Amino acid sequence: MKPTLLISGCLSGQPVRYDGTARTLMQDSLARWQAEGRVIAFCPETAAGLPTPRPPAEIIRSQDGAAVLDGSGRVCEADGHDVSAPFLTGAYMMLDLARRHDCRFALLMDGSPSCGSSFIYDGRFTGTRHAGQGVTAALLRRNGIAVYAPSLFARLEAMMD
Ligand code: SF4
Repeated sequence: MKPTLLISGCLSGQPVRYDGTARTLMQDSLARWQAEGRVIAFCPETAAGLPTPRPPAEIIRSQDGAAVLDGSGRVCEADGHDVSAPFLTGAYMMLDLARRHDCRFALLMDGSPSCGSSFIYDGRFTGTRHAGQGVTAALLRRNGIAVYAPSLFARLEAMMD
């Protein structure tokens, strides 16, 4: 049986980003997988109850999602408001969804404190990137799910078809 893909809601066209926009990924293969019923879209932040729009959040002190999972890192808004709890809740909700649908692959929006898989922002709210992953990406990877950024779409295609 061909695999089912978990995808960030914003990449599938849902306007769920912190600023109320989507980042719809236009790829023929993705449209075909969707038509075949092999794509499940999910936004961990809104699923956990965060509103849209919402203040941007970053993982503090150049840490990444793994540190948040381990309790040594935090996700905060620019004013210091700690939103680690809903970020963790959303991550575990997405993992549960992946398990229920036996997903081995996820295509997640890069740069996000939830979904980032190759880079995130460094926690100073200055637009500075550093290598790292978001909370959901880290949790999915810990549980054996291969996470792809949109920049790696060609590699994902080879696994999905
Ligand atoms: Fe997109 Fe993930 Fe952010 Fe939701 S949490 S808006 S799916 S990047």
